[in-house]
Amino acid sequence: MTDWPEKKLGFGLMRLPKNGDDIDIDATCRLVDEFLAAGFTYFDTAYVYQGSEDAFRKCVAERHPRGSYTIATKMAGWKLSPDYTPADMFADQLARCGVEYFDYYLLHSLQESRGTVYEDNGCFDFCQKMKEEGKIRHFGFSFHGSPELLEKLLTDHPEVDFVQLQINYVDWENNAIWSGKNYEIAAAHGKKVIVMEPVKGGFLASLSPETAAPFTAIHPDASPASWALRFAGSLPAVAVVLSGMNAPAQMADNVATFGDFQPLTDEEQAAIAKVRDNILSVPTVPCTACRYCTEGCPMGIFIPDVFKAYNMILTFGEHNRPHFYYSGQLALGSGKASDCIQCGQCEAACPQHIDIIEQLQKASAVLDV
Ligand code: SF4
Ligand code: SF4
Repeated sequence: MTDWPEKKLGFGLMRLPKNGDDIDIDATCRLVDEFLAAGFTYFDTAYVYQGSEDAFRKCVAERHPRGSYTIATKMAGWKLSPDYTPADMFADQLARCGVEYFDYYLLHSLQESRGTVYEDNGCFDFCQKMKEEGKIRHFGFSFHGSPELLEKLLTDHPEVDFVQLQINYVDWENNAIWSGKNYEIAAAHGKKVIVMEPVKGGFLASLSPETAAPFTAIHPDASPASWALRFAGSLPAVAVVLSGMNAPAQMADNVATFGDFQPLTDEEQAAIAKVRDNILSVPTVPCTACRYCTEGCPMGIFIPDVFKAYNMILTFGEHNRPHFYYSGQLALGSGKASDCIQCGQCEAACPQHIDIIEQLQKASAVLDV
């Protein structure tokens, strides 16, 4: 079975249950068995998800017939070198996953900051060759960039079958995530869409009662996560909605949502719009991520990225995700928010007239802790 799944829920293997530092294989096997027993088939992993491809082999490939599941994994272009080619990585992935072919194979995380690493390493041509040899059944890429880049990639590479996009109802019109615009571009090119982060890294699963009131007014017992998943699953071009399940209750809720999937009604879409308004009504730093401010910053502070993390905290409260994102930016070379020497260069450059110095001080108070 290698076509698109009948049921749209996919099992994301990025955040599997842990036993200490290691993936808990027994607990993962139980989740896998429950998922398959409920009639679902699609698993999603990646070369760079630590231990995940091996866990897939142990929990799925070595325990279930090949025809009962489908597997998607991803090539990490930034790990390639002249000594470690796409063919080397692909062979390692087949061995790690314990399969002879991949039902779905993706180039991982295309975006502006990755440059042309996939073109430079011949990855598109290599995947097309693997497809012709039957080792890849469907070829695509996951994407974190702008609508302009997505349009260019899909125009330059009509051989791509599908794209994996960040789609959730809060970021539908977000000018840094572009859920809506990127979905529409993919659909206009006739591509299937795989949805990642439908609950925005868990944020949309834990709404306050006040924020979620429009949901509970219609379905008092439905979880906020089920609303977010149904939003993604109701989009016509969407083939699979990924959920990174790591607990039995989460699995049960997701399986129930997609077991007998009901697209959102007009009344339910209106409730989604109200909850989105509730979430977005929280005042945040109105940064559009244009980055006019960053080039001249003597302290090398990735100002819009600091504000992105800070805005996540303002909107959703304390959560490990913004801190994880912020420390990732520091690892990429950003100065800390607290490094600001108040030179004022950025404020002069900002078309949104943001009081950047003061906002960085507030951000620093919650991020540099
Ligand atoms: S005021 Fe601070 S953030 Fe702005 S450019 Fe100067 S050092 Fe960088
Ligand atoms: S110039 Fe202003 S709006 Fe643009 S990225 Fe910097 S802070 Fe954000």
